[in-house]
Amino acid sequence: MKNWEKNVRLVTPYTPGEQPKKRDIIKLNTNENPYSPAPGVQKVLKEFETDRLRLYPDPASSELVDAIASEYGVRSSQVFAGVGSDDVLAMAFMTFFNSKKPILFPDITYSFYDVWAEVFRIPYETVPLDEDFQICTKDYQRENGGVIFPNPNAPTGVLMPLEQVEEIIQANQDVVVIVDEAYIDFGGVSALPLIEKYENLLVVQTFSKSRSMAGMRIGYAFGSEKLIAYLNDVKYSFNSYTMDQLTLAMGKASVEDREYFKQTTDKIIRTREWTKEELKKLGFLFEDSKSNFVFVTHPKVSAKQLFENLKKENVYVRYFAKPERISNYLRITIGTDEEMQKLISLLKKYC
Ligand SMILES: *Cc1c(COP(=O)(O)O)cnc(C)c1O
Repeated sequence: MKNWEKNVRLVTPYTPGEQPKKRDIIKLNTNENPYSPAPGVQKVLKEFETDRLRLYPDPASSELVDAIASEYGVRSSQVFAGVGSDDVLAMAFMTFFNSKKPILFPDITYSFYDVWAEVFRIPYETVPLDEDFQICTKDYQRENGGVIFPNPNAPTGVLMPLEQVEEIIQANQDVVVIVDEAYIDFGGVSALPLIEKYENLLVVQTFSKSRSMAGMRIGYAFGSEKLIAYLNDVKYSFNSYTMDQLTLAMGKASVEDREYFKQTTDKIIRTREWTKEELKKLGFLFEDSKSNFVFVTHPKVSAKQLFENLKKENVYVRYFAKPERISNYLRITIGTDEEMQKLISLLKKYC
């Protein structure tokens, strides 16, 4: 190692799911939405005046923040927006997790949490899920420097009832608790109303899954005015112009089309329920999922084998070799009905 390298911030980066270059594949590996964004998004793109790009965007992202606030019935001062929820979450880690005590999150969860903890030098401890992949609220009733978990959890898809989410918040009022609701729109109950009751609660959501805009990069968070102000202070100390003009306008158009949002999320929920039934018939085992994916294992056929066979047929699903507890599971995104029919017919051959 060269001398200058001794002062490099060494990190093992997050590994995202594969984005294959080829077309004509069935892509069920990164929980993207199979449907297009709301029609109004296309309209904004068509009508966008490029002359506007001469100017810096609004650092407060007001156009989008106000639209989100109005749609969700909160004040704009209770909303923070960022470049995908990954940006929002990273900012929140930097802002709120500065204790010497370890932050807590589940052992099986979104695999970015430990990466942020490492990059920001935040001590952390993982808390094991039980055998049925459920979060045990009691395990979060101990000293810590902060708490974060997704609800529904990823990659398990398991939804925690709101009462249990509140139990965790209730027991942790001396630290910031982050609930990552990337998948809440597929049948879960949001913790959003609890921000009025708990000043230390941050609820994070994204346009990437339920709003079909993973490629646009929009995430947001709800919290008390105090919490959001702290987040903004850190953001403005880091990069004020995180969101561009076009993104703000397209995000606003998406939020304003409640009807389309409901139609597409309902459709995905129906396809998910059909997929679950078919998987059950084929002998797959899984906990109930309330997200836009299912997390399944088969008692007779190895997940790795299935993953490879499906890939040969140009059907991409997600396989995690680690941790070992989930190394015989596949995470399968819910696509269109046709895509899921194709998947099931292939699985019938292998099982
Ligand atoms: C997809 C996902 C995110 C991040 O999504 P963005 O595209 O950055 O908004 C955050 N948390 C969980 C649990 C996710 O699955």
